[in-house]
Amino acid sequence: MSGSGSDDVRGVRHPDTLAVGYGYDPQDAFGAVKPPIVLTSTFAYPSAAAAKQAHRDYFDGAAPGREAGFIYARLDHPGLALLEKRFAALDGAEEAAAFASGMAAISAVLLAHLKPGDSVLHTRPLYGGTHGLLHGPLAGLGITAVAIGDGVDDASVAQAVETASAHGPVGLIFVETPANPTNGIADIALIARAADALAARQGGRRPVVVVDNTFLGSLLQAPLAHGADLSMTSLTKYAGGHSDLIGGAVSGPAALIGPLRRLRTLLGTHLDPFTSWLALRSLETFPLRNARANANAAVVAAFLRDHAKVASVSYLGFLKAGTPARAVFDRQCTGAGSTFSFRIRGGESEAFAMLDRLQVFRMAVSLGGTESLICHSATTTHYSVPPEIRAEVGVDDATLRISVGIEHPDDLVADLASALDAIP
Ligand SMILES: *Cc1c(COP(=O)(O)O)cnc(C)c1O
Repeated sequence: MSGSGSDDVRGVRHPDTLAVGYGYDPQDAFGAVKPPIVLTSTFAYPSAAAAKQAHRDYFDGAAPGREAGFIYARLDHPGLALLEKRFAALDGAEEAAAFASGMAAISAVLLAHLKPGDSVLHTRPLYGGTHGLLHGPLAGLGITAVAIGDGVDDASVAQAVETASAHGPVGLIFVETPANPTNGIADIALIARAADALAARQGGRRPVVVVDNTFLGSLLQAPLAHGADLSMTSLTKYAGGHSDLIGGAVSGPAALIGPLRRLRTLLGTHLDPFTSWLALRSLETFPLRNARANANAAVVAAFLRDHAKVASVSYLGFLKAGTPARAVFDRQCTGAGSTFSFRIRGGESEAFAMLDRLQVFRMAVSLGGTESLICHSATTTHYSVPPEIRAEVGVDDATLRISVGIEHPDDLVADLASALDAIP
């Protein structure tokens, strides 16, 4: 992108400031304080030589210090470039690539680094879409997925490495931490060390360590700082934050992001101009929304823990001192987030009685929006998961997942209190 005066602002490191203006210079757009939405599919050149230069820059890389021009919006466009710049800054990464959804981002990462005969290691449980991709289309391509039993335990990781290696070279390790909806923790540094050890065994081929950072997001967990090669986020959730857009992003070093952008061009899964603009607008209030939702979640979690009709609460702030998960959480995360699950005393009918009484909480899947959401995991997000697998990952008929929004905490607690009264 041409011109980017605000990059020159020295010493600006706080996410609150980066989120508002980083990467945009009003002089690039008639002095407009806010970035325009550039609705065009293609870009015109002032001369044939300029057209050649733009293509040379795209295919061979631009000379250092010179920004490449735009060619065609599936390859890149101004809103996408700006969103990627700002998201990379928030993620503490050299570069980022934005996609049409979180799943598009995950698909590109997996397809870029896995080939037939490879194996892939992953933590458990996985987001349903990621699980479906690994065990459906990728299995069909001859790629074997192997689960790590316990992502904070050295021996468990080592055992999964042996199992995966027996199927073929490990091309990638996919880490979802904290996990959805159990809030299970994996130790990113421990898994990065396993990747280093695998490189020595695989003739120098080191598996790429990818973290799905959707559950906590850029402001509460920095996977790259803990040894991950790539950090992936569904922009649909906390970064987008208003439940009105679908998008995804991956951040990391330029050497790993460049190939993802080129693959994205071939798959056709770039983020469009309007959604890029919406996502940029959302990022401005990301730190504010995050702080409020986290504070609300702490209040709601404490209320539920102390309620007689609630059997357990899986809020990260309640991880027991002295446990391995707590130690990793303290080292790796700077907050407990605002999505967690709790179990009521009873089963499906008690859960449904409660849900149908709620007025403020919206009954919907997804998370990370300004509004508080709740869903009955077994019959919604985990509908297609067999009961024995659900039991293994801690989702039973009494499990409800909530995503706490930015409303007044008293109203949220009152809504839950009145709904819990509906349980006989
Ligand atoms: C929602 C979600 C995704 C997928 O993101 P989409 O934007 O819906 O494609 C991936 N991982 C996690 C943990 C999610 O919650």
